[in-house]
Amino acid sequence: MFETDTEGIRQEAATGALPARDRVEQLVRAAHERYRGVDAGSVADYIPALAEADHGWFGICVADTAGGLVEIGDTGVPFSIQSISKAFVYALVCDAFGHERIGELVGVDNTGLPFNSVIALELNGGHPMNPMVNAGAIATTALVAGETADAKWETIARGLARFAGRALEVDDRVFTSESETNSRNQAIARLLQSYGRLDGEPGEIVEVYTRQCSLLVTARDIAIMGATLADGGVNPVTGERVVSEEVSRDTLAVLAANGLYERSGEWLFQIGLPAKSGVSGGIVSIAPGKGAIGTFAPPLDAAGNSVRGERATAYLSRTLGLNLFASAAVGASAVPAPASTPAPDERTV
Ligand code: GLU
Repeated sequence: MFETDTEGIRQEAATGALPARDRVEQLVRAAHERYRGVDAGSVADYIPALAEADHGWFGICVADTAGGLVEIGDTGVPFSIQSISKAFVYALVCDAFGHERIGELVGVDNTGLPFNSVIALELNGGHPMNPMVNAGAIATTALVAGETADAKWETIARGLARFAGRALEVDDRVFTSESETNSRNQAIARLLQSYGRLDGEPGEIVEVYTRQCSLLVTARDIAIMGATLADGGVNPVTGERVVSEEVSRDTLAVLAANGLYERSGEWLFQIGLPAKSGVSGGIVSIAPGKGAIGTFAPPLDAAGNSVRGERATAYLSRTLGLNLFASAAVGASAVPAPASTPAPDERTV
């Protein structure tokens, strides 16, 4: 990490609010209507059980930081959380132990390579670079509080339930299917071990990681989980503090840089929100201080991001005024800008 001089400087919160509820409802309906006919992309099948998903499922839920929910479509359809779990497990580990250890072991920078890249690890001397790619996520799961694999699993299951505001179940079919086919993740874990970057037995850690990816959530759940990070770590529906404000901020920064795999820069450029996607078709996007959007639609683009989810989120980010980088000049009407720069000979001195 580069040196900064922020000690003792107050962290001001993100400001602004979502538009009024009826406007949010209108826009969420419009987003669903606009993109439900889009059939681009393909459903992930490298985990065989995921291939059974209905291509047409499409749900959108907006959860605000006051605990309000606006939803449309298949927001109650359960799907395995997959990579979206990485964001919340990272937050739990930072909350328990601080971000220094995990920052040093895993990092926060984008690899620019696919989520399950082995080359990325090799190119970086065994350093996973960030916790949102598989290598970094497996190394993060190894750091979860608990002496044994079972204890770590308990910490994860309890922690993710607090983010969602309800107990989450494992999809045993997805867990078994991925366990039978995840030799690549096994290889990544062994490679991490060979570089001294895995705190535990590779087989056990990958099993916990695979189980965490198999937890069943809905678009509504991921919206609430995201809204918890938007709300300084307090679940706005249950009122329970899940992680600290600092951890929420740090997690969102990691998501902004890495949440959409190797397309994270493009996502930030077009949509302007920290977000995390998963190969089962979910995307959660977070507007700090305001709320979160959870989308679910299984067909994915080449990088593994839900096509309808991307489009709906882009639309809502614009229309709800969520893009973190979009500003309007304050007092612009009071001081009109010159229409054009006068030519040198027209200038008055
Ligand atoms: N369990 C999946 C894997 O490790 C998660 C991938 C993802 O959603 O990006 O391959």
